[in-house]
Amino acid sequence: MVDLTLTDEQKDLREMAHNFAEKEIRPVAWDYDRDSTWPQDIIEKAWEVGLMNTHIPEEYGGPGLDYLSGCIIEEEMGWGCSGIGTSLMCNGLATSPIAIGGSEEVKKKYLGMLTEEPKLASFCLTEPDAGSDVSGMRTTAVKMGDEYVINGSKCFITNGRRTSSASGPRTPRRSPSTTSASPPATCSARRTTASSSR
Ligand SMILES: Cc1cc2nc3c(=O)[nH]c(=O)nc-3n(C[C@H](O)[C@H](O)[C@H](O)COP(=O)(O)OP(=O)(O)OC[C@H]3O[C@@H](n4cnc5c(N)ncnc54)[C@H](O)[C@@H]3O)c2cc1C
Repeated sequence: MVDLTLTDEQKDLREMAHNFAEKEIRPVAWDYDRDSTWPQDIIEKAWEVGLMNTHIPEEYGGPGLDYLSGCIIEEEMGWGCSGIGTSLMCNGLATSPIAIGGSEEVKKKYLGMLTEEPKLASFCLTEPDAGSDVSGMRTTAVKMGDEYVINGSKCFITNGRRTSSASGPRTPRRSPSTTSASPPATCSARRTTASSSR
């Protein structure tokens, strides 16, 4: 059975996250909702005090905290505001594929960049015709020379318009297809036509 008793360090973390949510998020959450504006200052403050990217291992510049500690922080951020909390914690989701399957070089580059500056990453799975059903995904990533060309259309991507790198599953090689697309979240490929929202 998993022991979910919090350590003293985790209790301190919870208190710190709670205080941050109470002081920095709750007083202004409604303003951001009402005006549909972007909480860049909150993101920068959260990054500054170490409440983002807690999952990133020390060798890539993060604190390498355990998943329970991440959940504790996430819970408090969500208490502050579920929308802002989702944006603050999305780097964890976005970097999972890299942490699981990335080469050392890719990990250094993409995990490292999130700990060097308050940057955001996105996980781009959902498409207009594919959400839960991942096999319905139509986006392609085709290797051309030493670069990938990504073609597809995405929606509901957390931080999609603000992100510095994007990750997500891809379908097996297919020819690039035409897409409906507006300027994307920046991907590491040379050309991308993925559109995003949220
Ligand atoms: C706040 C928020 C943030 C999000 N952020 C991201 C993000 O960062 N990146 C991203 O990729 N997506 C993101 N999403 C999208 C989210 O992951 C999708 O909404 C989700 O995958 C469901 O897809 P869908 O909306 O197309 O619903 P559908 O896939 O159409 O599902 C609708 C219903 O049908 C059921 N269903 C689907 N397929 C089957 C099946 N084969 N058999 C039986 N039942 C089925 C589902 O369980 C569900 O009840 C976000 C969504 C929200 C609300």
